[in-house]
Parts: sequence; C-alpha cells; structure tokens
Amino acid sequence: MDIDYLEPTTVSEASELLKLHEGGMAVAGGTAVVLMMQQGLLFPEALISLRKIDGLSDVIAGDDLITIGSAVTLHEIATSSLLLERIPSLAKACGLVGNVRVRSSATLGGNLAEADYASDPPTVLAGLDATVIAESGRGQRRIGARELVTGFYETALERDEIITHIEVRPLGPDERAVYVKYVSRSSEDRPCVGVATRAGFSDGVVDELSVVVGAVASSPQRLDDVEGQAVGTRLEPDVIESLAGVYSQRISPLEDARGSAWYRKRMIRVFVKRALTGLVTNNPVG
Ligand SMILES: Cc1cc2nc3c(=O)[nH]c(=O)nc-3n(C[C@H](O)[C@H](O)[C@H](O)COP(=O)(O)OP(=O)(O)OC[C@H]3O[C@@H](n4cnc5c(N)ncnc54)[C@H](O)[C@@H]3O)c2cc1C
Repeated sequence: MDIDYLEPTTVSEASELLKLHEGGMAVAGGTAVVLMMQQGLLFPEALISLRKIDGLSDVIAGDDLITIGSAVTLHEIATSSLLLERIPSLAKACGLVGNVRVRSSATLGGNLAEADYASDPPTVLAGLDATVIAESGRGQRRIGARELVTGFYETALERDEIITHIEVRPLGPDERAVYVKYVSRSSEDRPCVGVATRAGFSDGVVDELSVVVGAVASSPQRLDDVEGQAVGTRLEPDVIESLAGVYSQRISPLEDARGSAWYRKRMIRVFVKRALTGLVTNNPVG
C-alpha cells in the first residue's frame, strides 16, 4: 500500500492535513509510529511529518517558566545543562528512556502523544504540574499534563491538534523533585513502576507535595487527598512509610509482562518510599 509522506512547514498546515486525511497521522521522531507500522499494528494512509515546522525544537528559559518545544528529543533534554540545573528530575528521567538510539530520535511531544501507559515523561510532567500547549486551526489550547492521558494510548488531544510546546515551572530554591524508575527486565526497558515526587519546603517543613505513580494503570495515578497528609511534616521516615503504604493500598495496578498486580503493589510501596526519601536527601533519581 502506498503511503503519502507529507511535510508541512507550519502547525496550521499540519493540522489542516490531519483533518483532510482521515486515515493519516502525525509523525515526529517516528520511534513509535514506524515500529507499529513494521509490526502491522498501524496502516496510516498518510504520514504528516512535523520535522520541517520551525519553532518546535527549542528550549527557552523565561523568568518563571521553561518552554520545551515538542520536537526536542529526549536526548537533548537529558543533556541540556539548563534542564539538568533547573528541572533535574525531568532531564534525568528522559536520560533513562530506552537507549541512546531511541532517545536521539524520540521527541517529548511524540512520547506524550503516544500515551503508552509504561512511559516515563508523562509521569514526571504530571508530577511537575506541567502544561501541554496544543494547536490546531481553531487556535491554541492549554492542557494540564495531569489531564493529557485519558486512557490506554488515548489523550485529551483532538484529531487535528498538534502538541507544540510543554511549559514547566523550574524548581524554586525551596523546592525539590525526584523521579524513580524501576525496570524489572532489562536496563533499557520501559518502567514496571515509575514514581515522580515534588515538594516545596519552608524551613524544612513540607508546604506542598505531589506524588504521581506511573506505569501501573492506563494513566499516571495521583491521590490528592493523601498528598495533603505530608503537609506540615518534615517527611520523617514514619511519614514516608505511612504514605508509601497508602499508595500501595489504594492503587489497583494492572498486570503485564513486567510484573503481576500483586508484585506491582509491593513495588509501588518500595518506590514511593524511595521517591519521597529522595526529596529529603535531594537526589533527583531517588
Ligand atoms: C526500544 C524502545 C525502548 C523504549 N523505552 C522507553 C522507556 O523506557 N520509557 C519511555 O517513556 N518510552 C520508551 N520508549 C518509547 C519512546 O519514548 C517513544 O516511542 C517516543 O518518545 C515517541 O516519540 P517520537 O517522536 O518518536 O513519536 P512518533 O513515533 O513520531 O509518534 C508517536 C505518536 O505521537 C503522535 N505525535 C508525535 N508528535 C506529535 C505532536 N507534536 N503532536 C501530536 N501528536 C504527535 C504521532 O501521531 C503518534 O501517534 C521506547 C521505545 C523504543 C522503540
């Protein structure tokens, strides 16, 4: 079957092409799309490449926000001195994805839009309360990273929307963030469990906490009511132990080749504990 390969030069042109070709799909780094085509899981009638669109490949630091273009590769994020300094958990998490060959092609926008449940960046970005900017012929839309993934390989994006940027607030002087990835099969594998934590401290006392557990359900899991239990504490070992226990108890994990539901429940406890401890020891990978 012939596939049209189209190379728009603007986001609105790409969006228009997605509307025009009902069986078409966007392609950025191609690491997911090409693999699925090779495996006979996808038969797009047209591939709409985002590579020739200007302005999607920069990382721009503002006073309060860092804006990452959707076409920035995971390798560029992992090796960016700006991101390593100001949002280390994100840079380190991207450096843990697959292998260097994958990271060199895979883009942040493609990773988010793929919405595979066993991905690392969606969990970290949800933990950092990042915002995803999507654009179509109707204009721009801001989607919270927490709301982006709506199910297995499903997102809040409309068919003709392109992710153009991701906005992340850099960590303040009293803030820390951690991402812990647990792989159960090989060092290059997708996570069995991934946990992102972020906390704001005042004189060593927690005034804000987020804990997001990824790769255990169709989308990253967060228990808002539990996070509040840490506020006013110094994240002492007993507080960490208790929070880790609640996450393990409340989340109903899926099972796959990386681990059974029984096993994942136990690993959630271990890795939530590690990701909370990383906040205390200021270690961005736990
Ligand atoms: C061997 C291997 C190991 C891997 N290990 C990991 C891992 O450990 N952790 C992890 O998180 N991931 C892992 N991955 C997945 C990898 O990170 C993703 O395949 C990659 O990030 C997708 O990005 P891409 O640019 O290649 O997307 P593409 O393949 O180009 O596209 C993926 C999907 O996103 C859509 N899309 C792309 N860009 C946009 C955009 N800007 N706006 C809207 N839609 C868009 C496409 O239409 C398609 O549906 C692995 C992949 C491989 C092949």
